[in-house]
Amino acid sequence: MKILKFGGTSVGSPERMKRLLDIIRPQEKQIVVLSAVAGTTNSLVEIANAYQNSDKQKAKELIKALHAKYEVFIKELFSSDEGLASGRELIDYHFALISDFANELFTPIEEKIILAQGELLSTTLYHFYLKEIGVKSVLLPALDFMKIDEDNEPMVEYIGEHLQPLLDKHADNTLFITQGYICRNSFGEIDNLRRGGSDYTASLIGAAIKAEEVQIWTDIDGMHNNDPRIVKGTTPIAQLSFDEAAELAYFGAKILHPQSVFPAQKYKIPVRLLNTMEPAAAGTLITNESEKGKIKSIAAKDGITAIKIQSSRMLLAYGFLRRVFEIFERYKTPIDLITTSEVAVSLTIDETRYLDDIIRELKDFGTVEVDDNQTIICVVGDFSVGVHGFASRVLDALKHIPLRMVSYGGSNHNISLLVKTDDKTEALRSLHNRLF
Ligand code: ADP
Ligand code: ASP
Ligand code: MG
Repeated sequence: MKILKFGGTSVGSPERMKRLLDIIRPQEKQIVVLSAVAGTTNSLVEIANAYQNSDKQKAKELIKALHAKYEVFIKELFSSDEGLASGRELIDYHFALISDFANELFTPIEEKIILAQGELLSTTLYHFYLKEIGVKSVLLPALDFMKIDEDNEPMVEYIGEHLQPLLDKHADNTLFITQGYICRNSFGEIDNLRRGGSDYTASLIGAAIKAEEVQIWTDIDGMHNNDPRIVKGTTPIAQLSFDEAAELAYFGAKILHPQSVFPAQKYKIPVRLLNTMEPAAAGTLITNESEKGKIKSIAAKDGITAIKIQSSRMLLAYGFLRRVFEIFERYKTPIDLITTSEVAVSLTIDETRYLDDIIRELKDFGTVEVDDNQTIICVVGDFSVGVHGFASRVLDALKHIPLRMVSYGGSNHNISLLVKTDDKTEALRSLHNRLF
């Protein structure tokens, strides 16, 4: 069984949806994971925000506009009266459901129900379209098997135990369709895997049923060696290891959801990043293998806050770092980068919900300095012991940019640097020119 995930742009218009059959071979066993039609989740977020602000009039206008877009969409997608009627009944149902929240107390539970409507719409529309043209497919409700636990961690075994019987029930079918992104939480409520989460769904399903391969079909020909939205002349990377891909995804390469590599890595399932607009292009293959002796790619993650704790008590003391880390643990705030000297430690976080509490507690140790609007620049490549010259090339490329932190040696495949967000574009371009 292969898992094929198509992102928002790949299902972004009726024409694109129809072209999926250039890639999907209905007679081969596969689970097709679809995102919402491009732009839909953003619109649903806006609608939820309007409800949240008790602006019912705005919510109504936004719903009307999105509904109208879907009306145009189904008219182009279906060619028969029955097909169109099935599409219209479906969209009317979903938009009525979204409109009904005007009369209810609006909490995060209602918000997540609204956010789930995009994937429910795209998958059912595609299933109806296949039916209209005589291609058999089975629609698998992700809400019946995708689950996260009380720490929002996906439950891979649960997913397998609940998905496999659905596949077995339709053993004579080959083409299965399901929703990316959406899931149920430990209370059984509708929830999601965070923005961009359809990639994660594909990898989780792949891991849960030990698929042969996971294919992420998107609007670019694989992982590029720098952010194509910022730097001109980037090129695709043919091969990456799971660790390298995870690092790039976590540090800002938007092509992959930050956590999506881990389930596939755990079960050694190859992941391919492929371009819907150019299906013959090789894309990027992600496996356990790592190509040695190369710098491969650069990514950047914004919205970082740096914290420096300076304390003479750290001098020759043991247990100091543990006490610092415990504070972050208590406030469930992950740390990304750390650098230390004998009397100070600097670290970065991207979750600032408990920043004030954290700072208050850190002040017990000494002086605390905080800088926001920082960006982590992550260079991925072969930085193993014995390889020399790469780190100096990285630093040389950034010699005209103030560096707040440099983290090297934490792993064999990465060097991370902290710069002001204002310096990000120049840092990415200069690294690109110097390294590739
Ligand atoms: P989808 O809707 O298919 O999930 P995304 O928009 O989430 O697609 O991801 C694809 C986009 O990721 C590309 O269009 C590209 O602009 C962006 N991107 C950012 N960094 C990279 C990178 N290093 N390599 C390739 N694409 C990248
Ligand atoms: N539709 C969701 C989003 O826009 C999930 C995804 O596309 O992966 O974030
Ligand atoms: Mg995406």
